[in-house]
Amino acid sequence: MNNNWDDYPSRKIGGGNPYRCCIFCERSATQLFGHLERHETYCLYRKAKEAMISGNKSEMLDVFLDIEDREDCYVLRTELYNQLRGEVSNDEES
Ligand SMILES: [Zn+2]
Repeated sequence: MNNNWDDYPSRKIGGGNPYRCCIFCERSATQLFGHLERHETYCLYRKAKEAMISGNKSEMLDVFLDIEDREDCYVLRTELYNQLRGEVSNDEES
């Protein structure tokens, strides 16, 4: 995978740490460094992206339902929603 996986929902680590971390698996930006596989296997961001890569709609739906009430997941939620509806634009890949 050569994508830059830096669109995960994040929050400040806090406690004097200047970096942010993934809200799901709490790996820090410096640990992740744009790699999807550095998120924990249980991480919903990783699960969502892997489901979208493989086109696994039931897995996409599972993640979508898990995060549907979370305001901090708006981008990921919208992405899943569009994939599930089959309204995907691949402009960025061309
Ligand atoms: Zn994560």
